[in-house]
Amino acid sequence: MKKAAILGSTGSIGTQALEVVEKHGIQVTALAAHSNVSLLAEQAKHFHPEIVCIFDEEKAQALSELLKGEGIEIVTGMEGLCELAELPENDIVLNSVVGMVGLLPTLKAIEAGKDIALANKETLVAGGSLVMEAARKQGVRIFPVDSEHSAVFQCLQGNSMNRIRKMILTASGGPFFGKKKADLVHVKAADALHHPNWEMGSKITIDSATLMNKGLEFIEAKWLFDLDPSQIEIVVHRQSVLHSAVEFEDYAVIGQMGVPDMKIPIQYALLYPERKPCPTRPLSLTDYGTLTFEKPDLETFDCLRAALDAISEGGLCPAVVNGANEEAVYAFLRDEIGFLDIGRLVRETMEHVKGGEVHCYDDVLQADHAARAYVRERIGAGL
Ligand code: NDP
Ligand code: MG
Repeated sequence: MKKAAILGSTGSIGTQALEVVEKHGIQVTALAAHSNVSLLAEQAKHFHPEIVCIFDEEKAQALSELLKGEGIEIVTGMEGLCELAELPENDIVLNSVVGMVGLLPTLKAIEAGKDIALANKETLVAGGSLVMEAARKQGVRIFPVDSEHSAVFQCLQGNSMNRIRKMILTASGGPFFGKKKADLVHVKAADALHHPNWEMGSKITIDSATLMNKGLEFIEAKWLFDLDPSQIEIVVHRQSVLHSAVEFEDYAVIGQMGVPDMKIPIQYALLYPERKPCPTRPLSLTDYGTLTFEKPDLETFDCLRAALDAISEGGLCPAVVNGANEEAVYAFLRDEIGFLDIGRLVRETMEHVKGGEVHCYDDVLQADHAARAYVRERIGAGL
């Protein structure tokens, strides 16, 4: 029986992963959340992991009361999260925490020789070179969970000897597709949290509205599939049915389709290489009738352009962009800044916070901290 640790088990990906785990009898070794003690306790009682991590230390007491008598060890903070990632029993670690905080646990799991099912895209954006180099050294496999990257991974099966000419990275376009900047001035969190095709955590939903999500995925794809940025084409595909595609040397294009349900890529990552019935529904192409494909609007969606510029610049620039974006997105969710300020702040941070080369984890952490501090300072000064 396969054994998996699930970091971020109370989130959108985490809860869907537990459905998959339950259906296929995968054993849960560990569960982690940030602060949602009630759901974490409920999951722990149901799945009986040997250890759980509640990142927020102040919640540990409440969790230990909820888990009294269960014989489950409780740990906290980054140290706790890393301990879960490294458990000798793990066959695979699903990293579905949100944000750059996921980088160190990913690196620790790789060092411990554990395969990774990776949803936490910020990990690859901020520290892609470190993660891929460590995985190569340790012979660890990284199974993408992000639907676009899972699609490409699926298209590549049986094609290891063939060079990818181009990756077609599909984008839904988000809730503000077709809008111009003038239409977005007064957008509030509640408007941006309405995604047309996917139900996800709040951070990625805002990233989808600004199209930063596609920028992060562009960088994620570069690292996962060892592509030059010139080999990745972003195509807006409103229906989210074609999850991405690969063009080979002979111009044959192989794509992966399915209903927009994250349980399909989550399951493929956890059960690879097996395909088994998934707790979702089948795709009916005739229900859709028409599939559409368009170019992205880089004039309106500054965040996407910033991410593309960041990966061209390289080094720590993507970590700076990611850190600035995380800070700005949460400020927008708290109604401290406007929607268009997110892109503005990301661009300004890129210009003010120096990047440099990536040598180690601390370089990435420092770039992340500097970017966040800059954004906080600008917000504190009233922008
Ligand atoms: P959610 O906000 O729904 O969930 C985040 C999860 O991470 C929660 O369990 C949260 O705990 C936990 N968490 C956050 N910070 C920490 C921390 N410091 N230590 C331990 N746990 C932590 O996010 P999503 O599930 O939507 O997204 C997770 C990741 O997957 C993101 O990187 C996202 O970009 C990526 N992704 C998500 C997709 C989706 O459909 N949702 C699709 C593709 C990628 P708590 O509940 O206590 O806050
Ligand atoms: Mg995606």
